[in-house]
Amino acid sequence: MNKALRKAVIAGNWKMNNTPDETKALITEMKPLVKDADCDVVLCVPFVDLYAALEATAGSNIKIGAENCHWAEKGAFTGEVSAKMLAAVGVPYVIIGHSERRQYFGETDVTVHNRVRAALDAGLTVILCVGETLDQRKQNITMEIIAMQTKIALAGVSAEELKRIIIAYEPVWAIGTGETATAEQADEVNGGIRALIASLYSQADADAFVVQYGGSMNAKNAAELLAKEHVDGGLIGGASLNAADFATIVAAASK
Ligand code: PEP
Repeated sequence: MNKALRKAVIAGNWKMNNTPDETKALITEMKPLVKDADCDVVLCVPFVDLYAALEATAGSNIKIGAENCHWAEKGAFTGEVSAKMLAAVGVPYVIIGHSERRQYFGETDVTVHNRVRAALDAGLTVILCVGETLDQRKQNITMEIIAMQTKIALAGVSAEELKRIIIAYEPVWAIGTGETATAEQADEVNGGIRALIASLYSQADADAFVVQYGGSMNAKNAAELLAKEHVDGGLIGGASLNAADFATIVAAASK
């Protein structure tokens, strides 16, 4: 396996924090700091901020993503936004299955699968989040949980479509808690995800597959995490709301 085969992806998950004006201002601050990145840079923002973000990043190396999408193409789903709508406004990425969606909004492995299917059909690239709770880690079933989440989400996804999937390993106990998985823990699970992809697809597909780590990654711990063989980038919440910290993480991922 060769880490050099993969381009790292650093994605910010801005969650429910900024207005469109604040989004523009933060992107304006970030753009010069990440312009020489030798990795892919993505910012995922709330639906109402997408236009502002797309406008502010036009012509730059920053790509924009949404934080969720619905599984239906259209219909009576008040308050929802379809993958097709995201594609229509020019959004290339979408986060699916974030643990906050699973925890607070009734997201299940099956609805994650349905959303992944819709996003792929609309031509989007998916950042698929998987991760175990603290209880599950203590019970020693981390890899079983990750394998189940991954297999259900990817059911029916072709090898060609897999090229538009990134998996973010996000241990639930490390998200927004300030507690980070050790670099060894992240590498072990990310390596397990890569082995699973090899068994479901092929070794070549697995070698090219991007597996991020997410969970309190910050300017201080990013370099150690990103140096690991199987950590091909990060999905970053809190630290992505600070331009200098995010730029430090991007620099750490740039080869
Ligand atoms: C996330 O929301 O995906 C995340 C990893 O958050 P944080 O970096 O704040 O833990």
